[in-house]
Amino acid sequence: MRVAGREILLAAAETSSDGLGLPVPAPMADIFAALADFRLAKDLYGQLTHLIDRLARQPGGAVLRQHLTRKTEHGPERFDCAELHASYQKALAAAPYSSYCPLCYLAHPGFSHPDCKLCRGQGWTTQSAFESCPENYRREMFNALGVRQLELVA
Ligand SMILES: [Zn+2]
Repeated sequence: MRVAGREILLAAAETSSDGLGLPVPAPMADIFAALADFRLAKDLYGQLTHLIDRLARQPGGAVLRQHLTRKTEHGPERFDCAELHASYQKALAAAPYSSYCPLCYLAHPGFSHPDCKLCRGQGWTTQSAFESCPENYRREMFNALGVRQLELVA
């Protein structure tokens, strides 16, 4: 199984740092191990996008073509499935990003508050949640962690 083999390779390579480039704390290792599967999902969505376009261009794809839109952004015209695109966006937006919640970390390092509006008690955030956190909290968290922002990936 080509896909299964690829999945195993990704899982081994992608569990040591979060989306910010920070080392993932041990209690978050299982959560951030899912990044391998999120990356696999991204690859598979890409493959499915190409497959749908290819099907739509074939005589047997005439009915499928009626349910698709034509897109020209990012290169030559292609057939696009809006539902697939929405599913792709929803899945990738849910990926773990920061292995620390700035609000919880600044309040009590090592404890995530169940009522936290940013992480909802998970202690980690998605990219959009992290970026929605005010800059001063993020900066304070980096300072508390002893990380200079220039050292970060993002
Ligand atoms: Zn939180």
